[in-house]
Amino acid sequence: MNGRRKILVLFCGGTIVMEEKSDGSLAVPDSEESAIKILREVEPRLSAVADYDIEFIANIDSTNIAPADWDRILLCLKENYRRYDGFVIIHGTDTMAYTAAALSVSIKGLGKPIVLTGSQIPAIKIESDARRNLVNAFRVATMPYSGVFIVFDRRIISGSRATKASESSLDAFRSVNGDEAGEITVDIRMKSWVKTRKPEPHDIEIASGFEADIFIHTLSPGCDPGDLEFLLNRGNIKGIIIRAYGTGNIPYGFENFFRKARSRNLPVIITSQCLYGKTLMNMYEVGRRALAMGVIEGGAQSLEILCAKLMWALRHAPGEIEKIVREEIQ
Ligand code: ASP
Repeated sequence: MNGRRKILVLFCGGTIVMEEKSDGSLAVPDSEESAIKILREVEPRLSAVADYDIEFIANIDSTNIAPADWDRILLCLKENYRRYDGFVIIHGTDTMAYTAAALSVSIKGLGKPIVLTGSQIPAIKIESDARRNLVNAFRVATMPYSGVFIVFDRRIISGSRATKASESSLDAFRSVNGDEAGEITVDIRMKSWVKTRKPEPHDIEIASGFEADIFIHTLSPGCDPGDLEFLLNRGNIKGIIIRAYGTGNIPYGFENFFRKARSRNLPVIITSQCLYGKTLMNMYEVGRRALAMGVIEGGAQSLEILCAKLMWALRHAPGEIEKIVREEIQ
């Protein structure tokens, strides 16, 4: 490493800066200044890892995040890309995996690390996991790797594979159907397949803009396909993801819905509702018949990355949704 690394912190809020309100609920502080003050106080020695600046994006519970916030993050990354060696995004855990997926889909030419982190326990509590996650996010952001990652507890997970698996464990995230990018032990060990940092000065391309009006439907035994047909009649919904059974199996009764969706050019992606499920839709007739109706198979991908791909493709390449869904992102 030549000289000290410079990190840009993009602040989006989350539990890490939250305080207990008089009714016992957790919420972000009222002012941006107090939130950033709490963040700065998490570890006063952070600048021993790297010099850093903080950019304010939002001060929200990430439950309230919307595609417009992703666009703000993208713009901030684009405008500051050349001046920093790495980026740390402070974010609530609830939708962190969606934001990581959205960034993975919409940034091209990345040659530096973008690391998302936060905490399950507010930083102001003595037992908080904030310090550890923040310090490790900084360390990963200075390393000779490139990509979008979630750094949380002892795991480093590719942004295109992450999911929040526990609402309370400090080890909250998992990699869906794929190797983790690295592990935090006494040192930080990245896997050999992780892309390395680009040594030469370069820019990124961003393609912001995500279609928010998609609908995710989870099958349950006996559920009425007519409900989905009703939604189609509403006309607003631009794309649907069905969380089907097992390998992507769907009751025969959905064929009429698939026909209607197809006639309206409405993309329907099928994923598995199994925690670590992959679709293999040719395996059973119930899957094969749905596939023949023109649905898009989600494969081994997380719900978060399928959402992000669908939302992004609807805006940027509506004619190529299937191709974009199939494309591997590291
Ligand atoms: N509700 C919080 C959020 O996503 C949870 C967290 O940050 O851990 O902002």
